[in-house]
Amino acid sequence: MNRKEIDEALENLKSLKKGGFINIPKLTWWVLNYVELYQYCHKNRHNGSCYEGMTCPCISNNPENRFSFLYPSLQEIIELHKHEEYFREEMAVLENVRDDYPDLMQWLKKNEKLGTEDFFLFWVEWYEEEQEAVKPFILEEKELDIKFKAGEWQYTIKFMEEFNELYWESDACPD
Ligand SMILES: [Zn+2]
Repeated sequence: MNRKEIDEALENLKSLKKGGFINIPKLTWWVLNYVELYQYCHKNRHNGSCYEGMTCPCISNNPENRFSFLYPSLQEIIELHKHEEYFREEMAVLENVRDDYPDLMQWLKKNEKLGTEDFFLFWVEWYEEEQEAVKPFILEEKELDIKFKAGEWQYTIKFMEEFNELYWESDACPD
Protein backbone atom coordinates (compact mmCIF):
# COMPACT_ATOMS: atom_id res chain seq x y z
CA MET A 1 0.00 0.00 0.00
CA ASN A 2 1.32 3.40 -0.85
CA ARG A 3 0.23 6.83 -1.89
CA LYS A 4 0.14 5.86 -5.54
CA GLU A 5 -2.71 3.51 -4.74
CA ILE A 6 -4.62 6.31 -3.03
CA ASP A 7 -4.13 8.54 -6.07
CA GLU A 8 -5.28 5.73 -8.33
CA ALA A 9 -8.39 5.13 -6.24
CA LEU A 10 -9.29 8.82 -6.39
CA GLU A 11 -8.66 8.96 -10.13
CA ASN A 12 -10.79 5.89 -10.52
CA LEU A 13 -13.60 7.56 -8.56
CA LYS A 14 -13.46 10.58 -10.86
CA SER A 15 -13.48 8.35 -13.94
CA LEU A 16 -16.78 6.77 -12.86
CA LYS A 17 -18.56 10.05 -13.52
CA LYS A 18 -20.51 10.46 -16.72
CA GLY A 19 -21.50 13.94 -17.82
CA GLY A 20 -20.39 15.13 -14.40
CA PHE A 21 -22.63 12.72 -12.49
CA ILE A 22 -21.85 9.55 -10.63
CA ASN A 23 -24.53 7.01 -9.71
CA ILE A 24 -25.17 4.80 -6.70
CA PRO A 25 -24.31 1.44 -8.33
CA LYS A 26 -20.93 2.78 -9.47
CA LEU A 27 -20.22 4.38 -6.12
CA THR A 28 -21.16 1.15 -4.35
CA TRP A 29 -18.75 -0.77 -6.57
CA TRP A 30 -16.00 1.71 -5.78
CA VAL A 31 -16.58 1.53 -2.04
CA LEU A 32 -16.50 -2.28 -2.08
CA ASN A 33 -13.41 -2.25 -4.22
CA TYR A 34 -11.33 -0.08 -1.89
CA VAL A 35 -12.24 -1.39 1.52
CA GLU A 36 -8.68 -2.62 2.16
CA LEU A 37 -7.17 0.67 1.11
CA TYR A 38 -9.54 2.39 3.53
CA GLN A 39 -8.48 0.09 6.37
CA TYR A 40 -4.86 0.86 5.61
CA CYS A 41 -5.50 4.61 5.50
CA HIS A 42 -7.54 4.55 8.67
CA LYS A 43 -4.74 2.77 10.48
CA ASN A 44 -2.12 5.19 9.17
CA ARG A 45 -4.15 8.39 9.31
CA HIS A 46 -2.03 9.87 12.11
CA ASN A 47 1.35 9.08 10.56
CA GLY A 48 3.63 12.08 10.78
CA SER A 49 1.57 13.79 13.44
CA CYS A 50 3.31 15.84 16.13
CA TYR A 51 1.22 13.93 18.66
CA GLU A 52 1.62 10.21 18.32
CA GLY A 53 -1.66 8.46 17.58
CA MET A 54 -3.54 11.75 17.52
CA THR A 55 -4.53 14.26 14.92
CA CYS A 56 -2.73 17.53 14.28
CA PRO A 57 -3.33 20.28 11.70
CA CYS A 58 -0.05 19.42 10.00
CA ILE A 59 -1.38 16.05 8.79
CA SER A 60 -4.82 17.17 7.66
CA ASN A 61 -3.72 17.09 4.02
CA ASN A 62 -2.00 13.72 4.20
CA PRO A 63 -3.53 11.42 1.61
CA GLU A 64 -4.06 8.69 4.24
CA ASN A 65 -5.87 11.14 6.50
CA ARG A 66 -8.04 12.56 3.74
CA PHE A 67 -8.94 9.13 2.40
CA SER A 68 -9.90 7.91 5.85
CA PHE A 69 -12.44 10.75 6.05
CA LEU A 70 -13.65 10.52 2.47
CA TYR A 71 -14.42 6.82 2.49
CA PRO A 72 -16.98 6.80 5.36
CA SER A 73 -18.67 9.87 3.82
CA LEU A 74 -19.23 7.89 0.65
CA GLN A 75 -20.48 4.91 2.64
CA GLU A 76 -22.95 7.20 4.36
CA ILE A 77 -24.33 8.37 1.01
CA ILE A 78 -24.96 4.74 0.03
CA GLU A 79 -26.61 4.05 3.40
CA LEU A 80 -28.96 7.00 2.97
CA HIS A 81 -29.83 5.94 -0.54
CA LYS A 82 -30.97 2.54 0.75
CA HIS A 83 -34.09 4.35 2.02
CA GLU A 84 -35.39 4.90 -1.52
CA GLU A 85 -37.43 1.71 -1.45
CA TYR A 86 -38.81 2.51 2.01
CA PHE A 87 -39.80 6.00 0.92
CA ARG A 88 -41.49 4.62 -2.17
CA GLU A 89 -43.63 2.42 0.06
CA GLU A 90 -44.29 5.24 2.52
CA MET A 91 -45.58 7.46 -0.28
CA ALA A 92 -48.21 4.81 -1.02
CA VAL A 93 -49.07 4.57 2.69
CA LEU A 94 -49.41 8.34 2.88
CA GLU A 95 -52.07 8.35 0.18
CA ASN A 96 -54.14 6.04 2.36
CA VAL A 97 -53.81 8.04 5.57
CA ARG A 98 -53.71 11.60 4.23
CA ASP A 99 -57.38 12.27 4.97
CA ASP A 100 -57.52 10.40 8.23
CA TYR A 101 -56.24 12.69 10.98
CA PRO A 102 -55.12 10.16 13.63
CA ASP A 103 -53.52 7.92 11.03
CA LEU A 104 -51.76 10.87 9.45
CA MET A 105 -50.36 11.94 12.83
CA GLN A 106 -49.13 8.42 13.35
CA TRP A 107 -47.48 8.43 9.94
CA LEU A 108 -45.71 11.70 10.71
CA LYS A 109 -44.53 10.43 14.10
CA LYS A 110 -43.28 7.20 12.56
CA ASN A 111 -41.22 9.14 10.04
CA GLU A 112 -40.25 12.01 12.31
CA LYS A 113 -36.62 10.99 12.83
CA LEU A 114 -36.02 10.42 9.13
CA GLY A 115 -37.67 13.68 8.14
CA THR A 116 -36.21 15.94 10.81
CA GLU A 117 -32.82 14.37 11.53
CA ASP A 118 -31.49 11.67 9.23
CA PHE A 119 -32.38 13.49 5.99
CA PHE A 120 -32.22 17.05 7.27
CA LEU A 121 -28.85 17.80 5.65
CA PHE A 122 -29.91 16.01 2.50
CA TRP A 123 -32.84 18.37 2.21
CA VAL A 124 -31.26 21.68 3.15
CA GLU A 125 -27.74 21.16 1.77
CA TRP A 126 -27.53 18.32 -0.72
CA TYR A 127 -30.59 18.61 -2.88
CA GLU A 128 -30.27 21.30 -5.55
CA GLU A 129 -33.68 21.55 -7.08
CA GLU A 130 -32.84 23.93 -9.92
CA GLN A 131 -29.93 21.81 -11.06
CA GLU A 132 -31.91 18.61 -10.56
CA ALA A 133 -28.93 17.31 -8.68
CA VAL A 134 -28.00 15.86 -5.32
CA LYS A 135 -24.60 17.09 -4.16
CA PRO A 136 -23.55 15.51 -0.89
CA PHE A 137 -21.42 17.70 1.31
CA ILE A 138 -18.06 15.99 1.71
CA LEU A 139 -15.69 17.85 3.99
CA GLU A 140 -12.67 19.29 2.18
CA GLU A 141 -13.24 17.25 -0.97
CA LYS A 142 -14.87 19.83 -3.19
CA GLU A 143 -12.64 19.10 -6.16
CA LEU A 144 -13.99 15.56 -6.39
CA ASP A 145 -17.37 17.14 -7.16
CA ILE A 146 -19.46 14.09 -6.33
CA LYS A 147 -23.02 14.62 -7.50
CA PHE A 148 -26.01 12.53 -8.52
CA LYS A 149 -28.95 13.10 -10.79
CA ALA A 150 -31.96 13.98 -8.65
CA GLY A 151 -33.93 11.20 -10.34
CA GLU A 152 -31.86 8.62 -8.54
CA TRP A 153 -33.26 10.01 -5.26
CA GLN A 154 -36.80 10.58 -6.48
CA TYR A 155 -38.65 8.93 -3.59
CA THR A 156 -36.41 10.53 -1.00
CA ILE A 157 -37.15 13.91 -2.54
CA LYS A 158 -40.89 13.20 -2.76
CA PHE A 159 -40.92 12.04 0.83
CA MET A 160 -39.11 15.13 2.08
CA GLU A 161 -41.42 17.44 0.12
CA GLU A 162 -44.52 15.82 1.54
CA PHE A 163 -43.14 15.37 5.02
CA ASN A 164 -42.05 19.00 5.36
CA GLU A 165 -45.33 20.30 4.04
CA LEU A 166 -47.32 18.23 6.50
CA TYR A 167 -45.10 18.03 9.56
CA TRP A 168 -44.17 21.59 10.50
CA GLU A 169 -47.76 22.80 10.55
CA SER A 170 -49.13 19.70 12.23
CA ASP A 171 -49.78 18.62 15.81
CA ALA A 172 -47.10 15.98 15.37
CA CYS A 173 -44.51 18.75 15.47
CA PRO A 174 -43.56 19.54 19.10
CA ASP A 175 -43.35 23.29 18.41
ZN1 LIG B 1 1.71 18.67 13.72
